[in-house]
Amino acid sequence: MSNLLEILNKSVDYLEKRKIKEARLKVESILAEVLSMQRIMLYANFERELSQKEIAKIKEKLNGILKKDEYKSDIITAEREENLKVLLDKSVSFLEKNEIPEARLKTEIIFSNVLGIERMMLFTKYRDEIDEEKKNKIREYIHKIGKEKFPIQYLLNEQEFYGRSFYVDKGVLIPRLDTEVLVEKALNILNEESIEEPKVLDIGVGSGVIGITIALEVPTSKVMGVDISEKALEISSKNKKILKAGNIKFIKSDLFKNIEYKKFNMIVSNPPYISSDETDVMSEDALLHEPSEALFAGSEGLYFYNSISKKAMEYLDENGYLLFEIGYKQGEIVAKMMETYGFKNVEIIKDLAGNDRVVVGQKLNN
Ligand code: GLN
Repeated sequence: MSNLLEILNKSVDYLEKRKIKEARLKVESILAEVLSMQRIMLYANFERELSQKEIAKIKEKLNGILKKDEYKSDIITAEREENLKVLLDKSVSFLEKNEIPEARLKTEIIFSNVLGIERMMLFTKYRDEIDEEKKNKIREYIHKIGKEKFPIQYLLNEQEFYGRSFYVDKGVLIPRLDTEVLVEKALNILNEESIEEPKVLDIGVGSGVIGITIALEVPTSKVMGVDISEKALEISSKNKKILKAGNIKFIKSDLFKNIEYKKFNMIVSNPPYISSDETDVMSEDALLHEPSEALFAGSEGLYFYNSISKKAMEYLDENGYLLFEIGYKQGEIVAKMMETYGFKNVEIIKDLAGNDRVVVGQKLNN
């Protein structure tokens, strides 16, 4: 009996005993070639039985390695040489030492970005030398992440949201996966209501993810996005351009202040909602680098829910909806607040982790 896993381990042993560097990598490449499958797929086929013929081929190639001068010199130089694999492993351990979560993933994203290679294909270039300029760029990024706790999204100026890549930079919140729950709900309502040309207001657009996603997913909609921050308006307008969203416009406004239109079918908002006594549970990168005015709100994080709910009725058309993203502990209280201001059918929706994440209510005149 000789399945893929056994042959792989035996071969690695065989090369390591003969002091060949990166034995596992080499064995994997040989197996991948002989079995004509991608190297990463080996690990999905561990139990596969190998034929005598395949085993013979593998042996032949293993011995080939021992003979090749290239590999002999490799034994001596590998220590000094800084090929991609060496630099990658060093970077991972640097981030790990600095207690950065998902160190390997982040390192691979940086390498893939700087070298212009897809992340899953990096292993095919493990033995490549990297030119000095790119090496420096990589070092600079890894240092910023490790030492300054700089979020990778601000370094690379991108974050994916709802399947699209958004431009992000210091000055706007990094879009969170949780916010997709809000967008999903908004889209469901808009589809069910099938209003001919739904008017949607997004309060506190930040990078623009919510408003732009709604505008693009519901091309018949007209979306207005407001923010008090110039930087946010600059970045959201940039995203509008990049993603070619013609049916959204942004204006500067402190909540409803500069809004004249009063017949919105839907108002959505992911306002700042963290109370200042929650700072100790927040991650260092967010605290150090994300805009505090996008994260924190007074009165136990409820300030914006109150101000927006209070005025929203005035700006909604009949049967219009108000949707908030909320902190996981704020469901009940925000729901009550909305009911107090007259909203009906108030509902709390959970995120993928099972935490309360969205509250929705409707303006009904009866
Ligand atoms: N609306 C933006 C987002 O959801 C910004 C939210 C904020 O800064 N609080 O990412």
